[in-house]
Amino acid sequence: MRTLTVLGSTGSIGTNTLDVVRRNRELYGIYALVAGRNVATLTRQIVEFRPQVAAVATPEALAGLAESLAASGLPRTQWPELLEGPEAFVRVSVASEIDTVISAIVGVAGLRATYAAIRGGKRVGLATKEVMVCAGQLVMDAVRESGAELIPVDSEHNGAHQCLRAGNRGQVARLILTASGGPFRETPAEALARVTPAQALNHPTWRMGNRITIDSATMMNKGFEVIEACWLFDFAPAEIGVVIHPQSTVHAMIEYTDGSVLAQIAATDMRMPIQYALTYPERAEAPVPKIDWAQARHWDFSPPDLRKFPLLRLAYECQEAGGSACCTLNAADEIAVEAFLEEKIGFLGIYEVVSECLAKMPVRSPRSVEEVLEIDAESRRVARELTARRAVPA
Ligand code: NDP
Repeated sequence: MRTLTVLGSTGSIGTNTLDVVRRNRELYGIYALVAGRNVATLTRQIVEFRPQVAAVATPEALAGLAESLAASGLPRTQWPELLEGPEAFVRVSVASEIDTVISAIVGVAGLRATYAAIRGGKRVGLATKEVMVCAGQLVMDAVRESGAELIPVDSEHNGAHQCLRAGNRGQVARLILTASGGPFRETPAEALARVTPAQALNHPTWRMGNRITIDSATMMNKGFEVIEACWLFDFAPAEIGVVIHPQSTVHAMIEYTDGSVLAQIAATDMRMPIQYALTYPERAEAPVPKIDWAQARHWDFSPPDLRKFPLLRLAYECQEAGGSACCTLNAADEIAVEAFLEEKIGFLGIYEVVSECLAKMPVRSPRSVEEVLEIDAESRRVARELTARRAVPA
């Protein structure tokens, strides 16, 4: 039986993880649930999964959780231990009671805990790409030192992980990541200045959290995935291609040196890669629709337009630059996305804020997670200033 801590249990990946657990109670137990502020969902999860510990982001959320648990009718004797703050997240990620952590807190709030789990030799099912984007070198050094198993949950990296099992690393020539193209795949570049948050949040194939959905609309998300893949599978940026595949059914392809290409194909349902991260190297029945090969279908592939989606190009450049460039890229993007969602800047303003922030921030080589978090905070401060200076488009 695997015993889990779920970082980000109330989010899209977190709730999908708990659905996998719900369907395989005999295989998986929950030790700790970690969330930000959504105490209503966390309370329901506690009542259903009875973790030993529940942790939230702030003292206010902790007070709210206690109130919400009292209102739920769950007898106080059956409440989990209630904790708050980043130290608590670390504690439940290295606890001797667990062997597996699902890392799915959006942004860098889960970085310390994920890093600690890796150093502690736990299996980590990694959804939060910001961990690799901001601290890829540190994380991979820790993986090598501790022998922790880092299994990607992000569907493209999970697909690559599966395809890579067919050969040894020396036989691999290239990785090709697919991208849906997002809601603006067919939108003319000139019209992007006027698109609204509601339009950008309307992703054609995936239902996800707000940040990643906007990042999909700008293709920043694919850029982060390129960076994540470089670290996870030891590729140079030039060895990773991106191809637009609107059906989002082929998740990744590995081209071997003899020109043979292996593709990983599955329905667009995150429960498959989440379950894979739990069962690896075994497989089990998953609650996802199977592809019906009796139906006629066609799949399209086309190259991305890097002029229309310059954030994707910027990701390649940041990974080439190395050091803290990708950390700044992520931090600035998060601030710019927030500002776009609040209608403080326009869609094209996201790229402008990010690229201006990169130009202002010196590139450093962080040697600890603390340093990464400092660079992250400084980049956010600069990005906020840049955002505040921009006028809302007419
Ligand atoms: P959501 O926005 O749906 O969920 C985010 C989770 O993080 C919530 O549980 C939220 O808690 C928690 N959280 C936010 N801030 C804090 C904090 N300060 N402390 C503790 N918890 C916090 O995001 P997704 O599930 O969509 O994505 C999570 C990560 O997985 C992202 O990095 C994303 O890029 C990645 N990913 C997601 C995919 C998807 O299909 N959704 C696919 C591949 C990768 P609360 O709501 O309680 O505040």
